[in-house]
Amino acid sequence: MKIAMMARNPNLYSHKRLVEAAELRGHEIDVINTLRATMNITSSKPAIYYNGRTLDDYDAVIPRIGVSVTFFGLAVLRQFEMMGVYPLNESVAIGRSRDKLRSLQILSRRGIGLPVTAFGHDPKKTDELLKIVGGAPVVIKLLEGTQGIGVVLGETEKSAKSVIEAFRGANVDIMVQEFIKEAGNSDIRCFVVGGKVIASMERTGAPGDFRSNIHRGGSARTIKITAQERTTAVEAAKAMGLNVCGVDILRSNHGPVVMEVNSSPGLEGIEGATGLDIAGMIIDFMEKDCRPGKVRTKGK
Ligand code: ADP
Ligand code: GLU
Repeated sequence: MKIAMMARNPNLYSHKRLVEAAELRGHEIDVINTLRATMNITSSKPAIYYNGRTLDDYDAVIPRIGVSVTFFGLAVLRQFEMMGVYPLNESVAIGRSRDKLRSLQILSRRGIGLPVTAFGHDPKKTDELLKIVGGAPVVIKLLEGTQGIGVVLGETEKSAKSVIEAFRGANVDIMVQEFIKEAGNSDIRCFVVGGKVIASMERTGAPGDFRSNIHRGGSARTIKITAQERTTAVEAAKAMGLNVCGVDILRSNHGPVVMEVNSSPGLEGIEGATGLDIAGMIIDFMEKDCRPGKVRTKGK
């Protein structure tokens, strides 16, 4: 295969590993700096130009689109799709996963376990939001947040209210969630490739932090997941339409609940914790799945 990997920084662990795994299997792979691509979207002959050449000979594209460049990155990926290039994850599916509310709505439609979540725009409705999720303690999340930044625990009714009001006053969108205390500072990352959980790890927050993000000082170890957790992760990936993703699950009193589905999951934590060749498994999956023009949605 001739593969294009859309990524801004070729030196990131995940990107280096994917290049290594592709080359080891005899594929040609180029890293395309997403923001340097230009597109011709004139009628019926879509093209992408990059560093003075036309990108017209790729079989497959690996999108590794950073959250901050989602808008432009998805446009480039759609262009590849319109040209018949096989995407490891489709633009529409990545778009869904980048919108936290929309993701939860898609998962809820399929009956997948979720933390009770409330969302509203009107700052005067704070009491109602708190009531929906059963009162404090609650978790308040910025819709635009990532890596645990903008995730706050409101321990009492009073503190929850002031946090919500502060965010709303700054005119940022938030959602309010029941606090899954019984998860005990930990969450489970299930790494799904091609409809199977190929690896999983438990992440535990730094002492005193309820957030388990590695970026916030958390640590990871391998874990055996239950059959129900496995099904939940697989169903979540399927609902979102993602071939490759990280499904983050909390162990709640009402069963496994999905917090988030990440369409560009990092490889360093999971390969480090499990010792598995995740990059290799991703490329192996692509070899089997790649067909010209194989896109369910073609950006629609
Ligand atoms: P981000 O997308 O910024 O990583 P998350 O929604 O994944 O934000 O939340 C960050 C961390 O906070 C999670 O990994 C988890 O440990 C903790 N957390 C998030 N939501 C809840 C919740 N409803 N109950 C308990 N812990 C939570
Ligand atoms: N193609 C639809 C869209 O991108 C999918 C709708 C959905 O599942 O949310 O809006």
